[in-house]
Amino acid sequence: MTRSNRDTIFQPILPGSVIGVLGSGQLGRMFAIAARRMGYRVHTFSPETDTPTGQVADVEIKAHYDDLIAVRGFASDVDVVTFEFENVPAATAQAAAECAPVRPSGSVLHITQNRLREKAFLRDHGFPVTPFKAVSSLEDLEAGLNEFGCPAVLKTAGFGYDGKGQTKITSADQAEAALASAGRQEMILEAWVDFALELSVIGARGIDGSFTQWGVIRNDHHNHILDVSIAPADLSRGITQEAIAIARAALEQLDVVGVLCVEFFLTAGGKLLINELAPRPHNSGHLTFDACVTSQFEQQLRAVCGLPLGSTELLRPAAMANLLGDLWPSVRGEAGEPDWAAALTSPNVKLHLYGKLTPKPGRKMGHLTAMAESAGEAAALVRKAREALSGAGKP
Ligand code: AMP
Repeated sequence: MTRSNRDTIFQPILPGSVIGVLGSGQLGRMFAIAARRMGYRVHTFSPETDTPTGQVADVEIKAHYDDLIAVRGFASDVDVVTFEFENVPAATAQAAAECAPVRPSGSVLHITQNRLREKAFLRDHGFPVTPFKAVSSLEDLEAGLNEFGCPAVLKTAGFGYDGKGQTKITSADQAEAALASAGRQEMILEAWVDFALELSVIGARGIDGSFTQWGVIRNDHHNHILDVSIAPADLSRGITQEAIAIARAALEQLDVVGVLCVEFFLTAGGKLLINELAPRPHNSGHLTFDACVTSQFEQQLRAVCGLPLGSTELLRPAAMANLLGDLWPSVRGEAGEPDWAAALTSPNVKLHLYGKLTPKPGRKMGHLTAMAESAGEAAALVRKAREALSGAGKP
């Protein structure tokens, strides 16, 4: 039977089957934990070993994403391929698709791994985005700054996350330097959004088109990196419903099978703009692991295996705080470990560590989740627990 026939005559991929994960970071680790809990086997593929995903997977393959022979070998040994890292080359997804279903498809990955393609797709399909422009020369950049005014943000079109490859331009005379620091890469200029809040909606879509979401999550960033996520976000019914409707439309328009996160800006005037899409579980959804009936990771598994999607009900208001490498004494040249016991003083705080061996400034090493009676209390509790890690607040 050919691959396309196999996909048309669809059979659910049942427990005991093997899931292949392209990428090997913390998202793959939490996915693998969810998959193994349900009796699946997990193979992971990335250019590294002893990775966050590899440590909990059944098989860890170390090869480069452009080693297409290795990719085909990996995909031939699994029942379905998914990914936890969207910067996988298109040819890799294509080679994998010759040997196993890839969900979400390579075309979702291709659109969302490049800011220009992604923004153009969203704009052309009627989704709200901030004005943007492709930049390949100083003339393009100057024309864009003229059009949008300052400040504006110049970003690399590819391989951007957590504010990497971004420059805020506050006056037109910074244009030349901003372009020079970017090097010879494809760039995008975005009009500055004076946002009141950053929000996300994580959606999951099954092979049959079924859709679930975890409501609107509020995200506070620090130095462009997600710091704390809070659920549910305290918003009007109208904005909540609009954000969910936009997210659903994005998953449907892209024909996603799996999980996709829509990151939004909410302006002071109450307008929602999409900042970006992530075609996989998202950092803002880590709290679903402890606080929801079905986590984003289990839902990704259910979606890519063609199983019915689980309830996304939030059992208690929750908040998540990222633990960056900066919290480790060794990063400051000091001895010792973060004070784990102090952070866990409250029984409503949960600790997740990703098994990364070397803490570095800005590196996501783990997170804490707190549950409470209200989202505000959960946020205060998770921040207090994180402070306790470095001894802050001790008498
Ligand atoms: P990104 O890597 O595009 O998600 O950007 C990281 C963070 O930079 C966002 O979460 C925002 O806090 C900020 N940012 C990105 N683009 C803009 C923009 N056009 N206007 C204002 N802030 C932005």
